[in-house]
Amino acid sequence: MSSRARVLILNAALGPLDYRVPAGMDVAPGSIVVAPLGPRQLLGVVWEAERMPSDAEVGDNRLRNLLAVADVPPLGAPLRRLIEWTADYYLAPPASVLRMSLASTSALEGARTATEYRATGTIPPRLTPQREQALERIGDRQGLIRELAQLAEVSDAVIRGLVKVGGIEAVEVDIDSPYPVPDPLHHVPVLSPDQRAAADSLVKGVADHIFTPTLLDGVTGSGKTEVYFEAVAQAIRDSRQTLVLLPEIALTEPFLKRFHDRFGYEPIAWHSGLRSTQRRRAWRAIASGEALVTVGARSALFLPYRDLGLIVVDEAHETSFKQEEGVHYHARDVAVMRGKFEGCPVILASATPAIETRQQVATGRYAELKLPGRFGVAEMPTIEPIDLINEPPERGRWLAPRLVQAMQATLEKREQALLFLNRRGYAPLTLCRTCGHRFQCPNCTAWMVEHRLTRRLACHHCGHAEPTPRVCPECQGEDTLVACGPGVERIADEVAALFPEAKTAVVTSDTIWSPAKAAEFVDRMEAGDIDIVVGTQLVTKGYHFPNLTLVGVVDADLGLDGGDLRAAERTFQQIRQVSGRAGRGEKPGHVFIQTHSPAAQVMQALITGDADAFYAAETEARKDAGAPPFGRYAAIVVSSEDQRCAHDTANLVGRSAPQVEGMHVYGPAPAPLAMLRGRHRYRLLVHAKRALDVQDVIRAWLGTLDWPSKVRVTVDVDPYNFL
Ligand code: ADP
Ligand code: ZN
Repeated sequence: MSSRARVLILNAALGPLDYRVPAGMDVAPGSIVVAPLGPRQLLGVVWEAERMPSDAEVGDNRLRNLLAVADVPPLGAPLRRLIEWTADYYLAPPASVLRMSLASTSALEGARTATEYRATGTIPPRLTPQREQALERIGDRQGLIRELAQLAEVSDAVIRGLVKVGGIEAVEVDIDSPYPVPDPLHHVPVLSPDQRAAADSLVKGVADHIFTPTLLDGVTGSGKTEVYFEAVAQAIRDSRQTLVLLPEIALTEPFLKRFHDRFGYEPIAWHSGLRSTQRRRAWRAIASGEALVTVGARSALFLPYRDLGLIVVDEAHETSFKQEEGVHYHARDVAVMRGKFEGCPVILASATPAIETRQQVATGRYAELKLPGRFGVAEMPTIEPIDLINEPPERGRWLAPRLVQAMQATLEKREQALLFLNRRGYAPLTLCRTCGHRFQCPNCTAWMVEHRLTRRLACHHCGHAEPTPRVCPECQGEDTLVACGPGVERIADEVAALFPEAKTAVVTSDTIWSPAKAAEFVDRMEAGDIDIVVGTQLVTKGYHFPNLTLVGVVDADLGLDGGDLRAAERTFQQIRQVSGRAGRGEKPGHVFIQTHSPAAQVMQALITGDADAFYAAETEARKDAGAPPFGRYAAIVVSSEDQRCAHDTANLVGRSAPQVEGMHVYGPAPAPLAMLRGRHRYRLLVHAKRALDVQDVIRAWLGTLDWPSKVRVTVDVDPYNFL
């Protein structure tokens, strides 16, 4: 019997440490413990020593005692393997990954009880009539003294008296009330034959309980949600847990509603907006296995589900699944790994799957189920380009005449229209008409964006904001500032001028910042309280408004510059998703795409709807360039508030790059965002063959180097953001 335990403590700067397990304490791998570190007490998890080497081997006599074990189930082996894999793959400290699992400290403090009271069932002798009546009124109900007193219409003292004479007793109850169990039979839809076939296959996967990643590829409005709900129903019947990952917190509210319609109860929602008591309750229910269905953004991925039977990644192509801070992981890819370790099916649902995912299907690693048509009578919308060179908007306007006419016709039919422009604020650039002064963020290499609604100039990278000045700070000219280019607020102004009677809503992260705000927007749309929506990418996802029949893409070319490797793919996905909002009910939908280059391949693919040809060409181009998924990238970003330091360290990293067959290092060069949040940034880009274990190479390479503590070096494996 060893009384030693290796513990991964929640301190990213330290590796795992060994502790003594005092007599009478029981721990096993996965146990969550409290360990001393210097004068402090830290949370940690007991780990298999052979899987987590420690470079601080300590003799038995110098070990410190573990202080406590949390009264919650140990983290399961599949989750421990996932934490190891994530740390290894994304070059992150295991403690940083573990922190995402232990996401509620209050949950670890054990069951919390409150004292409630109820009748004992025996009636004490010689009761006063008042006490007797009180007991009668209380019956078999249970509650706090005050609650019982109110029920019985007596004072608290009467209840206390009854406790003393044995008519009422105290009981300890758990403060975390249980969650209701969703009902698979609550409202069973009648599926179309295509849907039925896909659902049957998914249900079988859940019943078999083996790891099978499956791409559920269905056009917008084909009923992907209804189909994967059948798989969720099977997991519920098997009393196994399901995790549904959604890309955006704003999407959860409509999802909860649909879930409620199908299963009679809402699932557990896990997101950053939870209060600490809600987090605690959810975490404990997830760990005990009581929480059968959890829906959340990417942070829900590392929670300690006791028995996962199914993972669904909805809108799996969304780039917001990529975490850009702390541990730089991609939730879609980690979800597949979790399914692998748990031995359960993983469903990736999308109308516009990522090239990486399609490639997994092509090579047979993922299965594929297709839903080729829209559900019911709904047809795919018509899509027409508007060539901005031949049919330009009027001077100082952004909407071409043909789009304006279509909006007019839509309003006359009392239907709804959506204008899509992926740019928050009023104008992306503000300058002085007299001297040409431009407003730059003091912390970032970025122009300030004018927000007229809040009368501010804001930086979209660091959040810095200041009141829009009336006087140019450079030439002191008054009222000389002009806005260049459009943002959604400016489009909303144009709409208000064109259609003064129409009710318009601007939908961006500035206006929809919580699930409640999203729900309010959905309600207003459904009630017909909005005629025209002007929105950013936030409106491209998930929403289903049957009366929305017109979509106008204000600037389809916007996402194409910048030269990032996924620019065309992302443009295609975004515009196809937003087009997919049109005509989802009985009324046909129409989409207009304003572009300067209607002949471009991506525009042609959108207009003809030939996704396969577009993807084939994109895939070929990626293959030629050795870009993902055929090759791999990793970005190394060196940053510091001290430019000299950042520069010198970046050069040191560059000079020390190892010569490895199949790997090439570009840079260092100033990052496109050369300054971000006050830090100067340099970037190295590692490009490698797919077969190369590039993480091993980078670990060895950076492991030998030393840099000043004011420099930060971060590695982004499989980067999405090339800024
Ligand atoms: P997707 O996620 O593929 O865009 P949804 O699951 O949102 O599609 O389905 C589009 C609409 O059609 C939703 O309102 C949904 O409730 C409805 N729908 C889909 N399939 C069915 C079905 N079998 N029975 C009833 N309604 C359905
Ligand atoms: Zn900034």
